Amino acid sequence: MNPSPPFKKRLLRSVGDSFAFHNFARAVEIADRGRKYLRVLTYHRIDWLDRRIDLDPSLISATPDQFARQLDWLMQYFSVVSLEAVLDSMRGETSLPARAVLITFDDAYEDFYLHAFDILRDRGLPASLFVPTAYPDQPDRRFWWDRLYETLLCDHAGSHLETKLGSFDVSNEISRGQTLRELKQSLKQLPWTELNDVVDSICMQSKAKPLVPAVMSWDQLNEVSDQHVTLVPHTHTHPLLDRISPSEVRNEVELSMQMLKQKTGCSLPAIAYPSGQYSRQVVEQSRKAGCELGFTTNRGINRITHCDPMQLCRINVGRETPDNVIRFQLNPASRPMQWLLR
Ligand SMILES: [Zn+2]
Repeated sequence: MNPSPPFKKRLLRSVGDSFAFHNFARAVEIADRGRKYLRVLTYHRIDWLDRRIDLDPSLISATPDQFARQLDWLMQYFSVVSLEAVLDSMRGETSLPARAVLITFDDAYEDFYLHAFDILRDRGLPASLFVPTAYPDQPDRRFWWDRLYETLLCDHAGSHLETKLGSFDVSNEISRGQTLRELKQSLKQLPWTELNDVVDSICMQSKAKPLVPAVMSWDQLNEVSDQHVTLVPHTHTHPLLDRISPSEVRNEVELSMQMLKQKTGCSLPAIAYPSGQYSRQVVEQSRKAGCELGFTTNRGINRITHCDPMQLCRINVGRETPDNVIRFQLNPASRPMQWLLR
């Protein structure tokens, strides 16, 4: 039987922080000199926990200090590459350097501009930003998980929450956190329109507040794209693509590509599937829309000659994951231990 998540978390933290594991991860890196693999890191937000109390903190991948430290060891042990270089290698036109790593950010949160951008620029490192194109300059458009978080954790006054999915205990901070996690999991199984109906009904009683943008503006996106940041489609409205029809998938991907080109001039043929939810149909429709690369949230590294470019694996960076464990996951030797790292 697999250990429970809290046990795994504690184990990972204590083992990952140890000096012995540091040496082990380093030995694995030295042994791996090949050019066979593409590693892709996924970040969402780079921020301090208490800066935006209206946004779901589970999306914070690292504080600015943590992120700077991670980039420093990435520069020391790996080769950070651009998405353009990855596309060329997948087309067979060039080879990637040994230990190639692509740094990606999903959702284009404003904290990328406020914190991550300078840290990347100071080190001259490229990164790719997956942009849901309906969100820039639209502060009233918010991600459904952030709306739920704000309503449940900041606004909700009652002890019970009645929803179409059942009744939930929201009498204290612990039960609200638990309810949020359960709701997020259950909602992802619903058709997209139903998910939005449930979120709307939960958030309806939320008090109106001045809206602070969560996502970067088009001006900010244009500024970063001039300096080693590649802007890439992340659909238009960020729906769960396996919960909408094939024609809606095609429309979402095409619209996102068109908007990005029109607003910024960027036209790289790639997509990151929102929340990592995709199906064979989604891959097919994205390919028909012109995509040559598709990024999932499936954990792992990609063997360049054997992987499906439309189903590329990534390593998600979590705020509580020790650096040594992230480093270890970037190596082929970590494959047999994926159950522990999941
Ligand atoms: Zn996303």
